[in-house]
Amino acid sequence: MMFWHLLLAATILVQETPTEREAAHDVLRKMGELEKSLDAPSLVTRLTAPNPGREQAAARARELMEKELLGLGDDITKHPEIGFQETRSVEKLTAYLKGHGFEITPGVADLKTAFVARYKGSHDHPALGVIVEYDALRGTKGAFHGDQHSAQGPVGIAAAVAIAETMERTHAPGSITVFGTPGEEMMPPAAKTQMFEAGVFKGIDVMVRSHSSPATQRPGFGFGTCCLNIDGVKYTFSGAPSHQMMPWNGRNALEAVIHLFVNIDAVRASIRPEARIQGIITEGGAAPNVVPDRTAADFYIRYPDEIYLEQVREFTDNAARAAALATGTKVKIDNYARLRDGVSAASLSEPAFAYMKRYGGTKIDETPGKPQGYEETGSVSSAIPGIGFSAATTNAPYHTYEMETDALVEVGHQGFVVDAQAMTALLYDFLTRADYRAAVLKEFDGIRVLFDEYRESLRKVYGKPNVPEPK
Ligand SMILES: [Zn+2]
Repeated sequence: MMFWHLLLAATILVQETPTEREAAHDVLRKMGELEKSLDAPSLVTRLTAPNPGREQAAARARELMEKELLGLGDDITKHPEIGFQETRSVEKLTAYLKGHGFEITPGVADLKTAFVARYKGSHDHPALGVIVEYDALRGTKGAFHGDQHSAQGPVGIAAAVAIAETMERTHAPGSITVFGTPGEEMMPPAAKTQMFEAGVFKGIDVMVRSHSSPATQRPGFGFGTCCLNIDGVKYTFSGAPSHQMMPWNGRNALEAVIHLFVNIDAVRASIRPEARIQGIITEGGAAPNVVPDRTAADFYIRYPDEIYLEQVREFTDNAARAAALATGTKVKIDNYARLRDGVSAASLSEPAFAYMKRYGGTKIDETPGKPQGYEETGSVSSAIPGIGFSAATTNAPYHTYEMETDALVEVGHQGFVVDAQAMTALLYDFLTRADYRAAVLKEFDGIRVLFDEYRESLRKVYGKPNVPEPK
């Protein structure tokens, strides 16, 4: 019973505002019913019962990690490359995959460092997918792997190769594909959204991914995201240059971009308090004696749900238009990325968690976390069922030099091997059990329907006041 309370509590937590909680009331009740009918605890017991075939595959993933792939991860950690410049890392990862029977398509979706590696080119079903990232963080001392993305390739590849070999050995129908997704820590573009829209992930039945973590944990079921729904928006102003001593001969784009920030600050009180609107000036002019004729600001505009986020955007976009109008300049608004809630299914997250514990995950967090997708954009994780594996791999907080160091020592290595084995075990179950695939699909589709219902009811509660024409 305790288990159920934990799961249900985690789902309710994701509704961060009173309005959301009110709108979600009915949806959460239905979700509770859906989850009860699924009965994740007994599903986990059935699924994770002794199975020599599965253990053989997981042991193979462990062997690949220990023999070769931990070394490859160390190598990538020591040669960090920031987003969209990960050429060396991609070369290493794809060379390894090629050596194990995977056919490589480089540069997919117009992204130089994205790739697809399809085992023997097969598209058969069940189609298993593995997402791997490899970008480093931008630091003041240069690139560094303070988020341990350097290990994601090796972990995912160990699982993919172990599963490919299982399919060969057992003649189980299906296919396995590794997706190399660049620049997670950077946008534009939101690489996974661009790849999704280009149809790169089409036909995949289940997707897995690993990510470093300070604890062994898993998300609760439902829909959500780690860090609020985000619109990435670039505001570019154009004016006309002139001598600063005769500025009336020009139009000052710097004044415009400053007005944008002031205008936003002026209306913050009229926006619901959960909004986060943060921006920087990326271009502010070239010289103090020339009126700047071009400036730009880059904003992350966030709200707990995507429905009210539209109203926040209206405020910020109008702040930019007003700034341009007031200064005689022109503005271009580029909404270059939309990060949205993903869907998380207990039929995937609970067995994944059980396997991480079985294979030696440390620092175990028994309470399910916030529901969230297995990737940051929500575009893939709200369309294709999947799960992110996060065994404990560090004693340091995210995005630190210490976390990079941990990737090279026991705490990192041990956790990466746990991730690789757990990922392999879950993929094996999905590959070999039609009843399991049906359970995952039933839950995932059920949550998606409820997610739509939730957004509809949010639309009803976020009214807008009637503003009449002045008389
Ligand atoms: Zn990351």
